[in-house]
Amino acid sequence: MPEQVRRALTDLVHDVPDYPEPGVVFKDITPLLADHDSFTAVVDALAASGRDADGAVVVDKVVGMEARGFILAAPVALALGAGFVPVRKAGKLPRETHAVSYSLEYGQATLEIHRDGVAPGERVLLVDDVLATGGTVAATRELVESCGGDVLGVAVLLELTFLPGRATIGDLPLRSLGQV
Ligand code: AMP
Repeated sequence: MPEQVRRALTDLVHDVPDYPEPGVVFKDITPLLADHDSFTAVVDALAASGRDADGAVVVDKVVGMEARGFILAAPVALALGAGFVPVRKAGKLPRETHAVSYSLEYGQATLEIHRDGVAPGERVLLVDDVLATGGTVAATRELVESCGGDVLGVAVLLELTFLPGRATIGDLPLRSLGQV
């Protein structure tokens, strides 16, 4: 892991206690995003999950989950020469969707994907900012599979190791740039 990524995660992700509700320590990545060199370094590090050992791109689409996943997944898709596909909260996508409901660290949610967002047989990388309980990743994997796509892996900035994210996502290869 490049030193710059380590430093970005340590210095530029701020803990916000009791947000959005008591007991949750929110990981605020906006200072990292505002620093060009740090943002570039983490996008490069996340994009490594879309390449094989020789550096060849092995994914067709990068899926980002609303909302901070969009910010990271879109530049990762461009870095890989792959397409970007948004997974959004219920009611936000304008055409026919697949939908999955799931539990969050705080609350309940339904996520959707356009039915033609991923074509059958396409290889997909999932990108988000934080892996907490793993519910978001598991639901997104289900959505991609409903389209007939194949999720090759997931890349996140931070993994909250005191929550069961890794267990929830099972055999899905996970790259987390930092663990807390
Ligand atoms: P989960 O489905 O429990 O793995 O939660 C992951 C989703 O919720 C991600 O899209 C994160 O953006 C968000 N999230 C969960 N916990 C946190 C946290 N402590 N700080 C920031 N975002 C979080």
